Amino acid sequence: MKGIFVVGAGPAGMFAARQIALAGYDVFLFNRDIKPGGLAEYGIYPLKDKMKLGLRKQFSQVLALPNVHYFGNVLVGNSYEVTLEELEAMHPAAIVYACGAQGARKLGLPGADAKGVYAAKDFVYHYNQLPLYTGMDFSTGRNIAIVGMGNVAIDIARWLLIDDPDRKTESVTIIARRGPLEIKFDEKEIEYVEQHIARAELVAELDRVKEQCARCNQDVSPEKLFEQHFRHLKDPNFVFTPPRLSFRFLSSPAAILPDANGRISRLEVAENDLVLKADGSTSAVQTDRRVTLDIDTLIFAIGDTHDANIGLPMGPDGYATEPDPEHPREPHYEVWDPATKALIPGRYVTGWARKASTGLVGIARHDGEVAAAKAIDFVRNAPESNTLGESEILARLGAKGLHPVTKADLALLARVEQREAQAHQLVSFKYSDNEAMFSAIAEERERALRADTEQLAPMS
Ligand SMILES: Cc1cc2nc3c(=O)[nH]c(=O)nc-3n(C[C@H](O)[C@H](O)[C@H](O)COP(=O)(O)OP(=O)(O)OC[C@H]3O[C@@H](n4cnc5c(N)ncnc54)[C@H](O)[C@@H]3O)c2cc1C
Repeated sequence: MKGIFVVGAGPAGMFAARQIALAGYDVFLFNRDIKPGGLAEYGIYPLKDKMKLGLRKQFSQVLALPNVHYFGNVLVGNSYEVTLEELEAMHPAAIVYACGAQGARKLGLPGADAKGVYAAKDFVYHYNQLPLYTGMDFSTGRNIAIVGMGNVAIDIARWLLIDDPDRKTESVTIIARRGPLEIKFDEKEIEYVEQHIARAELVAELDRVKEQCARCNQDVSPEKLFEQHFRHLKDPNFVFTPPRLSFRFLSSPAAILPDANGRISRLEVAENDLVLKADGSTSAVQTDRRVTLDIDTLIFAIGDTHDANIGLPMGPDGYATEPDPEHPREPHYEVWDPATKALIPGRYVTGWARKASTGLVGIARHDGEVAAAKAIDFVRNAPESNTLGESEILARLGAKGLHPVTKADLALLARVEQREAQAHQLVSFKYSDNEAMFSAIAEERERALRADTEQLAPMS
């Protein structure tokens, strides 16, 4: 058999698997989490029910394909449970790595290990109930700073300002390295939190940076900014609602100052100059002007990095793909080893594992499909590989002491979670720790067996 392995069952991996299965090949998904979905399950905002339910439905349709095999709760990587060598020893005809970008970009600031300092993805995993992260301390205080001005930063602000049931939030400050024209969030995301912006305060902040921006030919007048990004602030009847959402442009965190308990209590922020480059773009240059803010929680939403512990060859931007100086902007999927300066044939990266923190689910889907097409092409012309079958792979994983979750297990879990949702009148219900999921699967299996036995028992 020529089976294709996919590592990671987020959107990129699931849609790659679909394409591979529809082309007639057996596809074997290895996933860190018990459930499929990746950031679609554990990243997308908890209240985006319609989107989450729609994606869950599509993923269960992929898993329903008979030639898709699933091993959840299996962490692949040389520093993890199944090394790349062990994976290769199962003789895949090709491997598509769709394991996302599990690391966080760090600034290496003094005091960065203080309590109350978090990476955005970890924080988001926590409030989206990804087991492991659910039980960790992600406590927040009254005055929170988020570094970064993309959609992830605004999602987190929304949670802290509105939906966190334990919130103590009085203020959230978005800290941005560059000016207001570099805003990366979408209009529909800021709309959720716009009522928390104090208009006069934002106008004053725009006034503070306007000369710097004008030197780079940037017009940051409130009229222009409100028109482009803050439509509700234009409305004369706009009403501010506490807690407060503020912006601090042209600023970079410089030092984290902890209190006696080791928790961040102040943040030293460097002011930046905006500099016009020869190509017309701008860059932010840190100055020695400093301000200190009273901050008890700091969240970095400045992007993710690839997990080097997996053991894929690394290049300057994460997992290494074939360099192509003539087409540097074109996506490259083939894994490349900088040490040998050679391609690793039939091994691909896709989705956020190809380009970290880039694009929405639709982009990840497309990327997964492109990688799948490349893998299919490769396998079609490759010799027979004698890939192990599902039961042999399960036996190998079991022999390592692992507890892989199969498609049949996921179906049992889905039944229990559906019943829980109905019983508590929720749109959906999900367990937030692995032990609870394993118990639910075992109990549901017992229940199904009992029901079968009762049906078979002769009527007295
Ligand atoms: C906070 C946040 C909010 C977002 N909101 C939206 C939104 O509203 N709408 C939208 O369209 N997009 C949204 N996105 C973007 C979207 O989530 C991504 O585009 C998409 O999930 C990327 O898919 P992926 O499959 O490449 O990676 P991921 O979704 O990260 O999936 C990676 C998968 O790999 C698995 N994995 C990781 N490491 C290993 C390993 N070592 N071994 C085995 N398996 C492994 C993980 O368990 C996971 O299942 C959001 C992203 C974030 C961070």
